[in-house]
Amino acid sequence: MPELPEVETTRRGIAPHCEGRSIRQLIIRNPSLRWPVPDDLPARMEGHTIRAVDRRAKYILIRLDTGTAIVHLGMSGSMRVVTDQSPPLKHDHVELQLDNGLLIRFNDPRRFGCWLWSDHPEQHALLESLGPEPLAPEFTGGLLYRLSRGKQVAVKSFIMDNRVVVGVGNIYANEALFKAGIHPNRKAGRISADRYHRLAEAIRETLSAAILMGGTTLRDFVNSDGKPGYFAQSLLVYGKRGQPCPECQRPLKEMRTGQRSTVYCGNCQR
Ligand code: ZN
Repeated sequence: MPELPEVETTRRGIAPHCEGRSIRQLIIRNPSLRWPVPDDLPARMEGHTIRAVDRRAKYILIRLDTGTAIVHLGMSGSMRVVTDQSPPLKHDHVELQLDNGLLIRFNDPRRFGCWLWSDHPEQHALLESLGPEPLAPEFTGGLLYRLSRGKQVAVKSFIMDNRVVVGVGNIYANEALFKAGIHPNRKAGRISADRYHRLAEAIRETLSAAILMGGTTLRDFVNSDGKPGYFAQSLLVYGKRGQPCPECQRPLKEMRTGQRSTVYCGNCQR
């Protein structure tokens, strides 16, 4: 599933080709995404100029003068830039044709992604109650400390709550809690301000490293036949149950909640 670093990498991959370009045509090959693609989306976008391609949480915001397309990659979505000579692939459901001869193709085999339209995207129901971006200055240990007072929920669930901070998916929660030395099951309301400062720093470091890693895949956004893969990352604990802890060498432990795996060191994380 594309996580925040992949979405940011996608944004960086398509933005330079889109910004300042006018949209010749928007083709919707299959409107049955997570929510139906609005019938009037082509009429709203065609002939208008893309002012910016931004990101909020895991949404890509394609901003025109007249409003904004809100795009989500869902569970399996990707976007890539191809020339107009390139035939569409299976699952290429939406295609943005630009006046520079390039196409932005949205591919989504499982169709949990979306293409929606909003005049005021920041006030859209999907975006309005989102917490701060993890790499924005508003996201601090102090914020985590304040929001967590009185909370009985486990710290791992707390930092994965989009109303607290966006973009901390399961892998990144595992990695950041390990770096900060905090046990994933510790109650959010029982963690000190100092430890939350370390955790906020660990979240920033983990996501920044992943975004940096994604930067190495950017060339794949133009003219690749396949879709840009979700990039491989160097992880400390996630997926490494039973392997030695990178700090103390004792075997890493795993807990499972539904489909979700938590890997941690019972010695280093308290
Ligand atoms: Zn350890």
